[in-house]
Amino acid sequence: NTNEMEIIFDSRSSNEGFARVAVASFMTQLNPTVEEVSDVKTAVSEAVTNAIIHGYENEIHKISIFCQIEENQISVIVEDTGKGIENVEEAMQPMYTTKPELERSGMGFAFMEAFMDSVEVESEIGQGTKVKMKK
Ligand code: ATP
Ligand code: MG
Repeated sequence: NTNEMEIIFDSRSSNEGFARVAVASFMTQLNPTVEEVSDVKTAVSEAVTNAIIHGYENEIHKISIFCQIEENQISVIVEDTGKGIENVEEAMQPMYTTKPELERSGMGFAFMEAFMDSVEVESEIGQGTKVKMKK
């Protein structure tokens, strides 16, 4: 008894709000609390922003978000086919950023981990990145 949806959109920062709201609206069938919705929106924003600025370095390509609701849990996978992450473990450390000059604080993955129940990252150089999160 699962329910799934997938969206594919251009990596423009103007689409970030749309992506966040699309996932939030899909999850309403779980009767989430306001806080749960807000946590998922924050995590989706961080992952989408990373795809735009790091994965594609602001070039316009496609980002996909796959969502699956099963029992009382939502899984969200944010995927880009951009440059990939060399060392995922290092990238996920709080305050690690490869773009300090852009006033990035390196807290995106830390927020995803704080706001979601689990976060897994699969990435390959030159192939892209998948961020799999559950709540
Ligand atoms: P902040 O999120 O606080 O603005 P940040 O984006 O640098 O700063 P994180 O979101 O934690 O921090 O990401 C850490 C690092 O992981 C990034 O600086 C970047 O090097 C790498 N990274 C994250 N997502 C991707 C991605 N989709 N593709 C390529 N590299 C990524
Ligand atoms: Mg980030």
